[in-house]
Amino acid sequence: MADTINKKCDGTTPLRQGDGVAPFADTLARHGLSLARDRVHTLQVNTGYLCNLRCRHCHLEAGPGRKEVMSRETMEAVVSFARRFPFQAVDVTGGAPELVPGLPFLVDGLAPLAPRLILRTNLSAVSGAAWESLLGLCVAHRVVLVASFPSTNPSQADALRGAGATEAAIAVLKKLNAAGYGVAGTGLELDLVSNPVGTLLPVSRESAERKFRHDLLRKWGIVFNHLHTFANVPLGRFRAWLQRTEDYERYMKTLTDAFNPSAVEGLMCRTLLSVSWDGFLYDCDFNLAADRPASGQKTHVSDVRDLPSPGSPIAIGEYCYACTAGSGFT
Ligand code: SF4
Repeated sequence: MADTINKKCDGTTPLRQGDGVAPFADTLARHGLSLARDRVHTLQVNTGYLCNLRCRHCHLEAGPGRKEVMSRETMEAVVSFARRFPFQAVDVTGGAPELVPGLPFLVDGLAPLAPRLILRTNLSAVSGAAWESLLGLCVAHRVVLVASFPSTNPSQADALRGAGATEAAIAVLKKLNAAGYGVAGTGLELDLVSNPVGTLLPVSRESAERKFRHDLLRKWGIVFNHLHTFANVPLGRFRAWLQRTEDYERYMKTLTDAFNPSAVEGLMCRTLLSVSWDGFLYDCDFNLAADRPASGQKTHVSDVRDLPSPGSPIAIGEYCYACTAGSGFT
Protein backbone atom coordinates (compact mmCIF):
# COMPACT_ATOMS: atom_id res chain seq x y z
CA MET A 1 0.00 0.00 0.00
CA ALA A 2 1.12 3.52 -0.71
CA ASP A 3 1.37 4.43 2.97
CA THR A 4 3.80 1.59 3.66
CA ILE A 5 6.46 3.05 1.40
CA ASN A 6 8.48 6.17 1.73
CA LYS A 7 7.11 9.21 -0.04
CA LYS A 8 10.46 10.47 -1.28
CA CYS A 9 10.71 10.18 -5.05
CA ASP A 10 14.44 9.66 -5.34
CA GLY A 11 14.47 5.95 -4.50
CA THR A 12 17.33 6.27 -2.02
CA THR A 13 15.42 6.01 1.24
CA PRO A 14 15.19 2.35 2.23
CA LEU A 15 11.75 0.78 2.19
CA ARG A 16 10.36 -0.06 5.59
CA GLN A 17 11.02 -3.55 6.87
CA GLY A 18 8.50 -6.17 5.87
CA ASP A 19 7.89 -4.76 2.41
CA GLY A 20 9.86 -7.65 0.92
CA VAL A 21 12.45 -5.64 -1.02
CA ALA A 22 16.00 -6.48 -0.03
CA PRO A 23 18.58 -3.68 -0.32
CA PHE A 24 20.35 -3.95 -3.68
CA ALA A 25 23.73 -4.35 -1.97
CA ASP A 26 22.40 -7.36 0.00
CA THR A 27 21.15 -9.02 -3.16
CA LEU A 28 24.51 -8.49 -4.82
CA ALA A 29 26.30 -9.93 -1.79
CA ARG A 30 23.97 -12.94 -1.72
CA HIS A 31 25.17 -13.73 -5.23
CA GLY A 32 28.82 -13.12 -4.30
CA LEU A 33 28.83 -9.89 -6.30
CA SER A 34 29.63 -6.25 -5.72
CA LEU A 35 29.27 -3.23 -7.94
CA ALA A 36 32.50 -1.34 -8.55
CA ARG A 37 33.93 0.63 -11.41
CA ASP A 38 35.85 -0.73 -14.33
CA ARG A 39 37.79 1.62 -16.63
CA VAL A 40 35.63 4.60 -17.64
CA HIS A 41 35.17 4.85 -21.41
CA THR A 42 31.84 6.63 -21.90
CA LEU A 43 30.71 10.12 -21.00
CA GLN A 44 27.00 10.79 -20.84
CA VAL A 45 26.00 14.44 -21.05
CA ASN A 46 22.57 15.35 -19.75
CA THR A 47 21.69 18.66 -21.39
CA GLY A 48 18.71 19.33 -19.13
CA TYR A 49 15.15 18.48 -18.20
CA LEU A 50 13.34 20.58 -20.80
CA CYS A 51 11.24 18.34 -23.07
CA ASN A 52 8.21 18.78 -25.30
CA LEU A 53 6.69 15.56 -23.87
CA ARG A 54 5.72 14.50 -20.37
CA CYS A 55 6.12 10.72 -20.62
CA ARG A 56 4.72 8.80 -17.69
CA HIS A 57 7.79 6.59 -17.48
CA CYS A 58 10.29 9.50 -17.34
CA HIS A 59 12.74 9.00 -14.46
CA LEU A 60 13.78 12.67 -14.65
CA GLU A 61 10.34 14.31 -14.61
CA ALA A 62 11.35 16.13 -17.77
CA GLY A 63 8.69 18.24 -19.44
CA PRO A 64 7.76 21.49 -21.17
CA GLY A 65 7.81 23.51 -17.94
CA ARG A 66 11.36 22.61 -16.88
CA LYS A 67 13.88 25.44 -16.89
CA GLU A 68 17.05 23.42 -16.27
CA VAL A 69 19.09 23.43 -19.48
CA MET A 70 22.83 23.34 -20.03
CA SER A 71 24.36 26.79 -20.45
CA ARG A 72 27.01 27.65 -23.03
CA GLU A 73 29.52 28.01 -20.20
CA THR A 74 28.81 24.49 -18.94
CA MET A 75 29.01 23.16 -22.51
CA GLU A 76 32.48 24.70 -22.80
CA ALA A 77 33.46 23.02 -19.52
CA VAL A 78 32.13 19.66 -20.75
CA VAL A 79 34.02 19.94 -24.06
CA SER A 80 37.17 20.83 -22.19
CA PHE A 81 36.62 17.82 -19.87
CA ALA A 82 36.21 15.49 -22.88
CA ARG A 83 39.42 16.93 -24.33
CA ARG A 84 41.37 16.32 -21.12
CA PHE A 85 40.00 12.78 -20.65
CA PRO A 86 39.36 11.19 -24.04
CA PHE A 87 36.33 8.91 -24.05
CA GLN A 88 35.49 6.20 -26.57
CA ALA A 89 31.89 7.36 -26.66
CA VAL A 90 29.99 10.50 -25.68
CA ASP A 91 26.24 10.15 -25.25
CA VAL A 92 24.20 13.39 -25.33
CA THR A 93 20.80 13.06 -23.68
CA GLY A 94 18.10 15.08 -21.89
CA GLY A 95 15.12 15.90 -21.61
CA ALA A 96 15.07 16.68 -25.29
CA PRO A 97 18.57 17.86 -26.26
CA GLU A 98 17.14 19.33 -29.48
CA LEU A 99 15.42 22.03 -27.41
CA VAL A 100 18.61 23.20 -25.74
CA PRO A 101 19.98 26.38 -27.29
CA GLY A 102 23.62 25.80 -28.13
CA LEU A 103 23.27 22.08 -28.90
CA PRO A 104 25.09 22.58 -32.25
CA PHE A 105 27.97 24.17 -30.30
CA LEU A 106 28.12 21.12 -28.04
CA VAL A 107 27.96 18.66 -30.95
CA ASP A 108 30.61 20.57 -32.90
CA GLY A 109 32.85 20.63 -29.84
CA LEU A 110 32.45 16.97 -28.85
CA ALA A 111 32.43 15.31 -32.29
CA PRO A 112 36.21 15.51 -32.91
CA LEU A 113 36.95 14.25 -29.38
CA ALA A 114 35.28 10.81 -29.38
CA PRO A 115 35.10 8.06 -32.00
CA ARG A 116 31.40 7.64 -31.23
CA LEU A 117 29.09 10.58 -30.53
CA ILE A 118 25.50 9.64 -29.69
CA LEU A 119 22.50 11.96 -29.66
CA ARG A 120 19.24 10.87 -28.04
CA THR A 121 16.02 12.09 -29.60
CA ASN A 122 12.31 11.61 -28.97
CA LEU A 123 11.72 12.35 -32.69
CA SER A 124 9.22 15.11 -31.95
CA ALA A 125 10.99 17.98 -30.20
CA VAL A 126 11.78 20.12 -33.25
CA SER A 127 10.46 20.30 -36.78
CA GLY A 128 10.87 22.27 -40.01
CA ALA A 129 14.07 24.22 -40.54
CA ALA A 130 15.35 23.50 -37.01
CA TRP A 131 15.09 19.77 -37.64
CA GLU A 132 16.69 19.99 -41.09
CA SER A 133 19.61 21.95 -39.69
CA LEU A 134 20.12 19.48 -36.81
CA LEU A 135 19.96 16.57 -39.23
CA GLY A 136 22.61 18.21 -41.43
CA LEU A 137 24.85 18.64 -38.40
CA CYS A 138 24.38 14.99 -37.37
CA VAL A 139 25.13 13.70 -40.88
CA ALA A 140 28.23 15.91 -41.13
CA HIS A 141 29.61 14.54 -37.83
CA ARG A 142 28.35 10.95 -38.35
CA VAL A 143 26.46 11.27 -35.07
CA VAL A 144 24.74 8.06 -33.93
CA LEU A 145 21.04 8.78 -33.37
CA VAL A 146 19.22 6.88 -30.61
CA ALA A 147 15.50 7.50 -30.87
CA SER A 148 12.91 6.59 -28.28
CA PHE A 149 10.07 4.71 -29.94
CA PRO A 150 8.08 2.87 -27.28
CA SER A 151 5.97 0.56 -29.40
CA THR A 152 5.00 -0.32 -32.97
CA ASN A 153 1.39 -0.28 -31.78
CA PRO A 154 0.32 3.38 -32.25
CA SER A 155 -2.42 3.36 -29.61
CA GLN A 156 -0.03 1.88 -27.04
CA ALA A 157 2.71 4.39 -27.87
CA ASP A 158 0.29 7.35 -27.93
CA ALA A 159 -1.01 6.32 -24.51
CA LEU A 160 2.53 6.73 -23.19
CA ARG A 161 3.53 9.88 -25.07
CA GLY A 162 0.38 11.70 -26.11
CA ALA A 163 -2.08 11.56 -29.01
CA GLY A 164 -0.48 11.74 -32.45
CA ALA A 165 3.05 11.10 -31.14
CA THR A 166 3.50 7.92 -33.18
CA GLU A 167 2.40 9.47 -36.44
CA ALA A 168 4.85 12.34 -35.95
CA ALA A 169 7.66 9.94 -35.01
CA ILE A 170 7.03 7.81 -38.10
CA ALA A 171 7.28 10.87 -40.34
CA VAL A 172 10.66 11.74 -38.79
CA LEU A 173 11.97 8.17 -39.03
CA LYS A 174 11.11 8.20 -42.75
CA LYS A 175 13.12 11.42 -43.17
CA LEU A 176 16.03 9.87 -41.27
CA ASN A 177 15.99 6.83 -43.57
CA ALA A 178 15.87 9.17 -46.58
CA ALA A 179 19.02 10.89 -45.24
CA GLY A 180 20.71 7.48 -44.95
CA TYR A 181 20.18 6.87 -41.21
CA GLY A 182 19.58 3.20 -40.47
CA VAL A 183 20.28 2.24 -44.06
CA ALA A 184 22.88 -0.47 -44.64
CA GLY A 185 26.14 0.74 -46.11
CA THR A 186 25.76 4.45 -45.21
CA GLY A 187 27.58 4.28 -41.86
CA LEU A 188 24.80 6.42 -40.36
CA GLU A 189 23.54 4.52 -37.33
CA LEU A 190 19.94 4.78 -36.16
CA ASP A 191 19.04 2.85 -33.02
CA LEU A 192 15.66 2.71 -31.31
CA VAL A 193 14.77 2.46 -27.63
CA SER A 194 11.56 0.87 -26.49
CA ASN A 195 10.08 1.00 -23.00
CA PRO A 196 7.42 -1.44 -21.89
CA VAL A 197 4.06 -0.11 -20.81
CA GLY A 198 3.82 0.65 -17.08
CA THR A 199 4.88 -2.16 -14.79
CA LEU A 200 5.53 -4.78 -17.45
CA LEU A 201 9.06 -6.01 -17.98
CA PRO A 202 10.49 -5.82 -21.48
CA VAL A 203 10.55 -8.96 -23.58
CA SER A 204 13.99 -10.16 -24.62
CA ARG A 205 15.93 -7.66 -26.70
CA GLU A 206 16.41 -10.10 -29.58
CA SER A 207 12.74 -10.97 -30.00
CA ALA A 208 11.64 -7.34 -29.55
CA GLU A 209 14.16 -6.27 -32.20
CA ARG A 210 12.86 -8.91 -34.60
CA LYS A 211 9.27 -7.71 -34.06
CA PHE A 212 10.16 -4.01 -34.43
CA ARG A 213 12.16 -4.69 -37.59
CA HIS A 214 9.30 -6.65 -39.09
CA ASP A 215 6.52 -4.22 -38.04
CA LEU A 216 8.32 -1.01 -38.99
CA LEU A 217 9.23 -2.34 -42.40
CA ARG A 218 5.82 -3.84 -43.13
CA LYS A 219 3.69 -0.96 -41.83
CA TRP A 220 5.80 2.03 -42.76
CA GLY A 221 8.81 0.88 -44.81
CA ILE A 222 11.22 2.01 -42.05
CA VAL A 223 14.62 0.44 -41.31
CA PHE A 224 16.95 0.87 -38.32
CA ASN A 225 20.13 -0.68 -36.92
CA HIS A 226 19.55 -1.84 -33.34
CA LEU A 227 16.77 -1.86 -30.77
CA HIS A 228 17.37 -1.47 -27.04
CA THR A 229 14.72 -2.49 -24.52
CA PHE A 230 14.78 -1.45 -20.88
CA ALA A 231 12.55 -1.77 -17.85
CA ASN A 232 11.09 1.51 -16.61
CA VAL A 233 13.14 2.89 -13.72
CA PRO A 234 11.19 3.62 -10.52
CA LEU A 235 12.32 7.21 -10.12
CA GLY A 236 10.87 10.63 -10.86
CA ARG A 237 7.50 10.74 -12.61
CA PHE A 238 7.32 6.98 -13.02
CA ARG A 239 7.90 6.42 -9.33
CA ALA A 240 5.27 9.04 -8.45
CA TRP A 241 2.83 7.28 -10.76
CA LEU A 242 3.60 3.91 -9.16
CA GLN A 243 2.94 5.37 -5.75
CA ARG A 244 -0.27 7.08 -6.85
CA THR A 245 -1.61 3.84 -8.28
CA GLU A 246 -0.35 1.84 -5.29
CA ASP A 247 1.75 -0.27 -7.64
CA TYR A 248 5.16 0.59 -6.26
CA GLU A 249 5.67 -2.48 -4.07
CA ARG A 250 4.33 -4.84 -6.73
CA TYR A 251 6.65 -3.34 -9.33
CA MET A 252 9.65 -3.60 -7.01
CA LYS A 253 8.79 -7.24 -6.38
CA THR A 254 8.59 -7.83 -10.15
CA LEU A 255 12.03 -6.26 -10.56
CA THR A 256 13.63 -8.11 -7.65
CA ASP A 257 12.13 -11.44 -8.74
CA ALA A 258 13.68 -10.86 -12.18
CA PHE A 259 17.15 -10.08 -10.75
CA ASN A 260 19.72 -11.46 -13.17
CA PRO A 261 23.21 -11.76 -11.62
CA SER A 262 24.85 -12.07 -15.01
CA ALA A 263 23.62 -8.56 -15.93
CA VAL A 264 25.81 -6.95 -13.24
CA GLU A 265 29.11 -7.23 -15.06
CA GLY A 266 27.84 -5.22 -18.04
CA LEU A 267 26.05 -2.45 -16.12
CA MET A 268 26.74 0.90 -17.72
CA CYS A 269 27.66 2.58 -14.41
CA ARG A 270 30.85 0.47 -14.35
CA THR A 271 32.28 2.25 -17.39
CA LEU A 272 30.30 5.50 -17.70
CA LEU A 273 30.25 8.92 -16.09
CA SER A 274 27.21 11.14 -16.38
CA VAL A 275 27.40 14.95 -16.36
CA SER A 276 24.35 16.88 -15.24
CA TRP A 277 22.97 19.94 -17.06
CA ASP A 278 24.85 22.14 -14.57
CA GLY A 279 28.14 20.28 -14.97
CA PHE A 280 28.35 17.90 -12.02
CA LEU A 281 29.39 14.24 -12.16
CA TYR A 282 27.18 11.23 -11.41
CA ASP A 283 27.69 7.48 -11.84
CA CYS A 284 24.68 7.25 -14.15
CA ASP A 285 21.59 9.17 -15.28
CA PHE A 286 19.51 7.40 -12.60
CA ASN A 287 21.80 8.53 -9.81
CA LEU A 288 21.46 11.99 -11.34
CA ALA A 289 17.67 11.69 -11.08
CA ALA A 290 18.09 10.54 -7.47
CA ASP A 291 20.55 13.39 -6.79
CA ARG A 292 23.31 11.04 -5.65
CA PRO A 293 26.57 12.47 -7.02
CA ALA A 294 29.55 10.30 -7.93
CA SER A 295 31.94 9.67 -5.04
CA GLY A 296 29.33 11.03 -2.63
CA GLN A 297 30.09 14.69 -3.28
CA LYS A 298 29.23 17.15 -6.01
CA THR A 299 32.24 17.63 -8.26
CA HIS A 300 32.12 19.96 -11.26
CA VAL A 301 33.73 18.76 -14.49
CA SER A 302 36.02 21.79 -14.38
CA ASP A 303 37.49 20.55 -11.09
CA VAL A 304 38.10 16.92 -12.04
CA ARG A 305 41.75 15.94 -11.91
CA ASP A 306 41.37 12.16 -12.47
CA LEU A 307 38.63 9.82 -13.60
CA PRO A 308 37.41 7.30 -11.00
CA SER A 309 39.82 4.39 -11.00
CA PRO A 310 38.83 0.73 -11.44
CA GLY A 311 37.48 -0.61 -8.16
CA SER A 312 35.97 2.72 -7.06
CA PRO A 313 32.52 2.40 -5.47
CA ILE A 314 29.29 3.29 -7.28
CA ALA A 315 26.28 4.81 -5.51
CA ILE A 316 23.37 2.37 -5.57
CA GLY A 317 19.69 2.46 -4.64
CA GLU A 318 16.63 0.26 -4.95
CA TYR A 319 16.09 1.59 -8.49
CA CYS A 320 19.21 -0.41 -9.51
CA TYR A 321 16.93 -3.45 -9.67
CA ALA A 322 15.54 -2.01 -12.92
CA CYS A 323 19.01 -2.36 -14.45
CA THR A 324 19.41 -6.01 -13.48
CA ALA A 325 15.92 -7.29 -14.31
CA GLY A 326 15.87 -9.84 -17.12
CA SER A 327 18.49 -9.10 -19.72
CA GLY A 328 19.41 -5.92 -17.87
CA PHE A 329 20.03 -2.28 -18.66
CA THR A 330 23.49 -1.85 -20.03
S1 SF4 B 1 20.80 2.69 -11.50
FE1 SF4 B 1 21.73 1.13 -12.84
S2 SF4 B 1 23.38 2.19 -13.87
FE2 SF4 B 1 22.83 3.42 -12.08
S3 SF4 B 1 24.13 2.72 -10.37
FE3 SF4 B 1 22.28 1.51 -10.28
S4 SF4 B 1 22.76 -0.33 -11.48
FE4 SF4 B 1 24.26 1.19 -12.03
